Amino acid sequence: MRHEWHQLSHPAVGSPGLQTSRPTADSAEDVALGLDRWRELPRAQTPPWGDPAQVAEVCTVLDTVPSVVAPYEVDQLRRRLALVCEGKAFLLQGGDCAETFADNTESHLLANARTLLQMAIVLTYGASLPVVKVARVAGQYTKPRSLPTDARGLPAYRGDMINSLETTPEARVADPQRMIRAYANSAAAMNMLRAYLAGGLADLHAVHDWNKDFVRQSPAGERYEAIAREIDRAIAFIRACGMTDEEALRTVTLYCSHEALALEYDRALTRISDRRAYGLSGHFLWIGERTRQIDGAHIDFISRIANPIGVKLGPTTTPDEAIELCEKLNPENVPGRLTLISRMGNHRVRDALPPIVAKVTAAGAKVVWQCDPMHGNTHESSNGYKTRHFDRIVDEVLGYFEVHRGLETHPGGLHVELTGEDVTECLGGAQGIEDLDLPDRYETACDPRLNTQQSLELAFLVAEMLRG
Ligand code: PEP
Ligand code: MN
Repeated sequence: MRHEWHQLSHPAVGSPGLQTSRPTADSAEDVALGLDRWRELPRAQTPPWGDPAQVAEVCTVLDTVPSVVAPYEVDQLRRRLALVCEGKAFLLQGGDCAETFADNTESHLLANARTLLQMAIVLTYGASLPVVKVARVAGQYTKPRSLPTDARGLPAYRGDMINSLETTPEARVADPQRMIRAYANSAAAMNMLRAYLAGGLADLHAVHDWNKDFVRQSPAGERYEAIAREIDRAIAFIRACGMTDEEALRTVTLYCSHEALALEYDRALTRISDRRAYGLSGHFLWIGERTRQIDGAHIDFISRIANPIGVKLGPTTTPDEAIELCEKLNPENVPGRLTLISRMGNHRVRDALPPIVAKVTAAGAKVVWQCDPMHGNTHESSNGYKTRHFDRIVDEVLGYFEVHRGLETHPGGLHVELTGEDVTECLGGAQGIEDLDLPDRYETACDPRLNTQQSLELAFLVAEMLRG
């Protein structure tokens, strides 16, 4: 038996000292579950790790560390996503494109969490639907790249788990030890978020406090204040009626997610519980547009863990490919297990998405349909910044809703890159950010993120669409 996680009283914060012997890397159970089959398969975007012995040594450490999340939480998220699948809830997922070790700070984590929670408030209140909240956090440390080198001719930055953003050849050498740092940062981030959430970070009695000063005076901030006042009145009303569930008002569950790209890492943090493999590096793991080859390593690995999982679908996806993914990743057709994340671009969503949704629906495959309006809408600004225009993001979301309305399927979720800071990375929005404003606060390590105002604006729009 490789691990006895269910015997730890607090699996998410368990002490390594509780484990007396180091399990072997390939116990009979691991082999039976095929957890290492991916190693024999073609693999895109392989990190240029260098010495395999070093990678193996690092993975030996990660094999026995306390996991970042616990199996029961993973199961709970899958059950909540089943409600999304049935049209009874909405999935909101967001956070940095790439987390960095330097920005893994209390203030950054809290700002991002608050922005996501504010969006969730707007959606829950505006659409009267439960919202499942999933952050891109505590593990979003790897990036797939279109080119192996950057504009300077240096090896591309592949995320802090692999190499450094610094612009020197040495910094760009992949270093397996970074997986340990990524794990430590992820565990610390989750520990902090859990503590703040348990302590009332998301207390509905304090919704006004989430509205940051730099947002309060903006149109989106004012609309948010109006909702917060209505929530105050609603709470006063239900309390007067004696119906309050104080615990439900004070706490929310925020799940964590990342792209499963550095398979060594996610494999090493996989644990067996009740004869099932759980990827315990995060609650929800997804496979990116560049690594979703049906016979490739990533799809094989993710097919073998019990987590709720996602796959990005770009505009070249064929309906048959989508069906193959459903068959391979969710053979038992469990609702909540599989989320298909379309990222078509605003110019393509209205023609590329309908045949996929139609075929998957006709096949009876149960999936959550989620819209990522970011990754199909990236362009270079006149002054050389990788950016996205808010209008195109909004248009892709509108197109996504039109498609699902037309086919009578549930537009179940939104997947965005955002930050709680007042950055200038995406163009447009009520602030009217233009090309020349981009350098003011362009801070992302990879793709441009919505700032808090833009995130709230988008949430108001989606709430309206959901209300129909
Ligand atoms: C991402 O989500 O950051 C990403 C790289 O997405 P995609 O795989 O859709 O390009
Ligand atoms: Mn991105």
